[in-house]
Amino acid sequence: MNAITPSVATSAVFNHTEFDDHENVVFVRDKKSGLFAIIAVHDTTLGPALGGCRVWPYASPEEALTDALRLSRGMTYKNAVAGLPLGGGKAVIIADPRKDKTTSLMQAFGKHVDRLSGTYITAEDVGVSPDDMEEVAKSTTHVRGTKATGLGDPSPYTALGVFSGIQAAAATVFGSPDLTGKTVSVQGLGHVGYDLARQLHQAGAKLVVSDINDANVRRAVEEFSATAVEPDKAYAAEVDIFAPCALGAGLNCDTIPQIKAKIVAGAANNQLKTPEDGTELHKRGILYAPDYVINAGGVISIALATPGSDDTDVRKKTIAIGDTLTQIFQRNHNQNLGPEVIADQLALERLQGH
Ligand code: NAD
Repeated sequence: MNAITPSVATSAVFNHTEFDDHENVVFVRDKKSGLFAIIAVHDTTLGPALGGCRVWPYASPEEALTDALRLSRGMTYKNAVAGLPLGGGKAVIIADPRKDKTTSLMQAFGKHVDRLSGTYITAEDVGVSPDDMEEVAKSTTHVRGTKATGLGDPSPYTALGVFSGIQAAAATVFGSPDLTGKTVSVQGLGHVGYDLARQLHQAGAKLVVSDINDANVRRAVEEFSATAVEPDKAYAAEVDIFAPCALGAGLNCDTIPQIKAKIVAGAANNQLKTPEDGTELHKRGILYAPDYVINAGGVISIALATPGSDDTDVRKKTIAIGDTLTQIFQRNHNQNLGPEVIADQLALERLQGH
């Protein structure tokens, strides 16, 4: 930024460490419903900014701002690499999703989304259910993932994209996308992880599974003849492929040295705790499928579904995640920077080439 000396009021955003030339950051208040929210539109070069709305009991407005700036930028990169005609944005509502979420809160949020005239399109994220989005949709049409606009739960598409990404990684490392006889550790058997495990099983892979929820593990052991391990042993499993499908920041200086797999490819968001953790995987000769590339199936389904349409196009575009990853892995082979660095390059090229 140049030629502006921010005042105390504006410096909170313009001087923020996560500020990355965001186009628009809106602070939202609705006294009647109790709404406090921040909507961040990072970049609309490729189209309107699509990104979910998160409801979270942030400890402070500063924490919420940090999340909104960081996550909206992440959506720009994710949508660009996924080849979607969409920019990146994100909304955060400062509230406890278990106690504070009311229909009037969500409707008030929708009213403020509507004021942005379609430059920001909202959808579900952490702490927001499909029913909540139906309330938002009462105040704005700039919403995706509702019954009227979408294909419903995005998780099966996320799992399909991750499966395609694992095949691409296997082709790069083992010389074939065929997963027959390959061993895969699936960490987290929730909406995405369980569906991924099913596809891997059907493709002839042998599964090692872990989850903090024992019922999920028992189900996978029965249904897929999987081997169960304790959650903290998932990293060290003697497998070909490690698929993190639980929470973020799982790849860090404690866990990476334990990994025996040659490939890390899974659905979890923000898998690398720090950028150095990407470098460390790369140094160790472990091929990492950048999280925001491999897990884009969900956003593809949200973005491309139209009322009444089947999912042919969505599936095609989701399966193409494997091709994008192949391209990233090939460029990484030439440039040797790490796939996550190449993915960012690709996103910036798509933005600048527009
Ligand atoms: P989910 O909540 O349905 O499943 C997560 C699972 O991980 C749960 O079964 C939970 O018990 C388990 N878990 C939590 N901590 C664990 C641990 N330490 N070890 C093993 N298991 C643990 O969530 P989901 O929708 O399946 O999403 C999984 C991941 O993928 C998340 O990081 C999410 O942000 C990301 N993601 C999901 C989608 C989607 O379409 N659902 C899209 C993009 C990214």
